Amino acid sequence: MKPQLILLGAPGSGKGTQAARLVAELGYNHLSTGDLLRKEIKSESDLGKKVQGIMNEGKLVDDDTVLELLNANCDLGSSVYIFDGFPRNGEQAKALDSVVLKEAKSRAVYFDIDLEKLAARLTNRRTCSGCGEIYNLLSKAPAKEGVCDKCGGELTQRKDDNEETVKTRLQVFKETIDPVLAHYEETGRLAKIDASNAPEEVFSALKAVTEA
Ligand code: AMP
Repeated sequence: MKPQLILLGAPGSGKGTQAARLVAELGYNHLSTGDLLRKEIKSESDLGKKVQGIMNEGKLVDDDTVLELLNANCDLGSSVYIFDGFPRNGEQAKALDSVVLKEAKSRAVYFDIDLEKLAARLTNRRTCSGCGEIYNLLSKAPAKEGVCDKCGGELTQRKDDNEETVKTRLQVFKETIDPVLAHYEETGRLAKIDASNAPEEVFSALKAVTEA
């Protein structure tokens, strides 16, 4: 049985791109708390209205709200998951173990990358509104501007991928990641991969973690 996989890394470190491949090739289910929250905003639910302002500022939504949303969207009895964007702090890391994972086998992978490189990556990121394919205007531009190569869908920019919000998001990451890494290091579940490598190499490293 493959381990439940917890992807840790700064915004823009490549977690989403790699998660899509893990889903397609290894049968994982992708659980991104950012995606779940954006869905709530799109559907204009009470929860969506509550978190919209916080997300637009690039700050963290409160732990209980995100944990509840996460728990309601996973069933460990029937699937193997990639946790992407959760945990974001030490408290969430402990809650993930006690409330969600319990006895399940799990590994955490840290996408190690120079944070200085990420601001440009994020402001140039575009996502297909049809199939979710992720592009970057600097390193992986679509053949036709604004149009997805894969499905012809419209490419959109995330509302929080603007310069000012990106600055806050990277700062929040720097301030909160250390206890998260310590939690997985102490419990012998942490692997680190060099996320500045080519996507192919990053994927091989990830695959090796799932097989270890
Ligand atoms: P992401 O898509 O992971 O970059 O997350 C986008 C935004 O959603 C973050 O900037 C936070 O405002 C919120 N968010 C996502 N995951 C969490 C989490 N685990 N805890 C708190 N806020 C979160």
